[in-house]
Amino acid sequence: MNNRQTPAERLYAIVEQGLCIGCGLCQSVAGKDAVRVTKTVSGYLHPVVEGELEHATVDRIYQVCPGTRIEGLPSELIEADTRHDNVWGPWRRIVRAWAGDPAVRFEGSTGGVLTALANYLLVSKRVEFILQVKTSASEPSFGDATLSFTEADVFEAAGSRYGPAAPLTDIDAALGRDQPFAFIAKPCDVSALRNYASQDERVDRLVRYMLVMVCGGYGTPQGTIEFYRRVGIDPRQVTGLRYRGRGCPGPTRVETGDRAQEFHYIDYWGEDETTWSLPFRCKICPDGIGEAADIAAADTWIGGGPNRVDSVDDPGTNALIARTRAGEELIAAAAEAGALTLEYDIVPDIMSVYQPHQVNKKYAAWARHQGLHDAGRIVPHTERLRIEELAQDLPDETNEFQREGTRKRVEIGKASEPRPTACKP
Ligand SMILES: Cc1cc2nc3c(=O)[nH]c(=O)nc-3n(C[C@H](O)[C@H](O)[C@H](O)COP(=O)(O)OP(=O)(O)OC[C@H]3O[C@@H](n4cnc5c(N)ncnc54)[C@H](O)[C@@H]3O)c2cc1C
Ligand code: SF4
Ligand code: SF4
Repeated sequence: MNNRQTPAERLYAIVEQGLCIGCGLCQSVAGKDAVRVTKTVSGYLHPVVEGELEHATVDRIYQVCPGTRIEGLPSELIEADTRHDNVWGPWRRIVRAWAGDPAVRFEGSTGGVLTALANYLLVSKRVEFILQVKTSASEPSFGDATLSFTEADVFEAAGSRYGPAAPLTDIDAALGRDQPFAFIAKPCDVSALRNYASQDERVDRLVRYMLVMVCGGYGTPQGTIEFYRRVGIDPRQVTGLRYRGRGCPGPTRVETGDRAQEFHYIDYWGEDETTWSLPFRCKICPDGIGEAADIAAADTWIGGGPNRVDSVDDPGTNALIARTRAGEELIAAAAEAGALTLEYDIVPDIMSVYQPHQVNKKYAAWARHQGLHDAGRIVPHTERLRIEELAQDLPDETNEFQREGTRKRVEIGKASEPRPTACKP
């Protein structure tokens, strides 16, 4: 820490150094009178200091923020018979699956398994509610945190939202209900909640299941605007956006008032990984595969993306990675109840065929973090993610290329965000 920095400057450093994913947790830690995670002029959800902020509070934020600390599965959840893959982490079972209910399979992002598991958790009364993300009421491209108490609520939240979403802005209210619940979110959101368990004992007591999607990164606000422009839509006219779902991947549907236009997933993301417009934090992500979750759900496209022909009538098949005993048991129980249809078991090497971009990123993460160090930036603290070990498998030139690439990125300003300023309401 730079001793001359004020508490606000220290918090803003996380944003300015491109490490904030807008999870919302710092608002919960500091209290919303002090810090509000809100849409800023950069288009992202970021924290804005609104009241008095102490250094001690910022110290607590640095301990839990997924921009500064990312850990793998807590050691106590790793059993003697849990298997390990150096890329894919701890796992007990990996299985191809889809939602047992065809309507859920159709509506879901891939095969609807996260929605199906959430429904099963509610119906079987294992939890009282689900903390998850649904389409924002005010910003068509964003997600809003929501508590789902019924199957209808969960159904409404189905589908991937690639824009900013802050599921943890009000975690205190969810924990304050003193009821068991499940959390469904991105891997970095789950990292944040696992970190927060060290500051709030209710997390381990009440959050019975943590489920994630495997995540290659979310779409930048600028990338979404560029997509609208590419397809001839005025961004200011957009009233609704559904990224995918209703098939796999299903159409990207943009509403402008009474008019709806549908595009392909590839129109939004581009033809391959090199064209994805991602926030900097996603580029250096050491855990897009949800190592801290009970279950991670992924797509099963060979090579990491759909093609325009096969995707027309693809009903959607997920790969489910159960990492904990609780996750493994949940998959079996949901299948037994008909909530999930299991196809066949697979192994980590098959995941690498479905997710080459995750493999690349996992191998590159350590060198990229070293590049941050070289540039004098905050280096996220990582544990149990094996990134240094993986980097040692790469040729020195490759690590040097990644390291220097990141240092250069910082130098030319491609890893920086402006000081966050809230958008006017
Ligand atoms: C930003 C992002 C990047 C992704 N990258 C990859 C990838 O690289 N590889 C891959 O295999 N799959 C990726 N996916 C996951 C994939 O799109 C599916 O979400 C996943 O396969 C689960 O499918 P499903 O049919 O079970 O989901 P559904 O049953 O439709 O459930 C989706 C769940 O995700 C929650 N959710 C949606 N958007 C968000 C969000 N932005 N933040 C927090 N929670 C959200 C919803 O609340 C819902 O509970 C990504 C998803 C997202 C949101
Ligand atoms: S990543 Fe989350 S906790 Fe960290 S600064 Fe951003 S909103 Fe706050
Ligand atoms: S790539 Fe990593 S940091 Fe980015 S949204 Fe996904 S899990 Fe979070």
